[in-house]
Amino acid sequence: MKRKVAVLGATGIVGQRFVSLLVNHPWFNLALLTGSERSAGKKYTESVKWVLEKPIPEELEDYVLEPLDVDLILREGIDIAFIALPADVAQQIEVELAKRGIVVVSNASPMRMEPDIPLLLPEVNAEHVEVVEYQRARREWSGYIVKVPNCTTAILTLSLKPLVDDFGVKRVIASSMQALSGAGLTGVPSVVILDNLIPYIEGEEEKVESESLKILGRVLGNEIALNTNIVVSASCHRVMVLEGHTIAVFAELEEKATVEEVTRSMELFASNKIRGLNLPTAPSKPIIVRREVDRPQPRLDRLEGGGMSVVVGRIRADKALGGVKYVVLGHNTIRGAAGTGVLIAELLVAKRLA
Ligand code: NAP
Repeated sequence: MKRKVAVLGATGIVGQRFVSLLVNHPWFNLALLTGSERSAGKKYTESVKWVLEKPIPEELEDYVLEPLDVDLILREGIDIAFIALPADVAQQIEVELAKRGIVVVSNASPMRMEPDIPLLLPEVNAEHVEVVEYQRARREWSGYIVKVPNCTTAILTLSLKPLVDDFGVKRVIASSMQALSGAGLTGVPSVVILDNLIPYIEGEEEKVESESLKILGRVLGNEIALNTNIVVSASCHRVMVLEGHTIAVFAELEEKATVEEVTRSMELFASNKIRGLNLPTAPSKPIIVRREVDRPQPRLDRLEGGGMSVVVGRIRADKALGGVKYVVLGHNTIRGAAGTGVLIAELLVAKRLA
């Protein structure tokens, strides 16, 4: 039976991605879309400033934007709520929804680091869903919250996972070149970013440095313990690319490995953690390695695997840390937000948690 789902913040840049991924989804019935006070009560197709590469799906013609109202969401019998709201708006409503029995899959940053709230990247840490039963019991909620990682963190961590498994990773330096869409629909003014880059994104470096350790951590007792063997140092920058975050990564490995061994490790990375579950949004290859000297590039590579694969290139030996360096690219609103959100919800259904 299809689960009834809602997208809260459906007009934003992440909300639009959710809507486009959910409108004809085999497991989900897109039943409710919300906007702010500005747009509630209006037709979705008339209110949304659609910015995705494909035209707005015609199935959305009859949808009307609803206000952000917990009672309405409950009355509609929603099973899963996807949150694409600004952090301050999300914080209160997602707790209220979880208290009242809804499964919340949230892109908003508050509570991402709480040890009983899974921060999920299904190919990397699907087993972290185990802690939701403890979360419900501890907080006395009939629903629960799971979080989608920060966009840059998701892309970085997916590329690091095979190296962690095959060689061990000690220190990581990550320098990001992040797309404009990462700042939301009204994000960075054109007069600020044209012919320019901004070497600062508020809170981003802290998120990359802390969230990676949680995603690569393990379930200990009823909670998620950070991976304290790894130290991550990040420098994050906004560049004039529409979609697709690119990260230059330098990694110190525990065991010595050649460039060819690292390349093979990434190429052979298979999502064992979700193998056999046949999740519709899972890409057949989560990591694609390109051997050309000038790839990956955002415009050419961001839609690999429907935007769910990350693309790695320029794998080389690194003299400074004594490990490897490479460039990884991922689609920030698909792999870094809505696509991973939908994949998480599929995982919850497959595990009979939703
Ligand atoms: P956005 O484009 O600014 O969209 C925000 C959405 O929230 C819109 O639908 C907006 O509705 C709604 N909203 C704003 N204020 C509201 C209020 N007071 N009450 C009810 N609804 C309200 O932002 P975004 O980039 O999609 O980001 C959404 C969330 O995902 C944020 O928490 C962000 O940090 C996170 N995230 C974003 C990315 C990315 O690549 N952009 C990646 C990962 C995570 P109206 O259109 O009606 O104003």
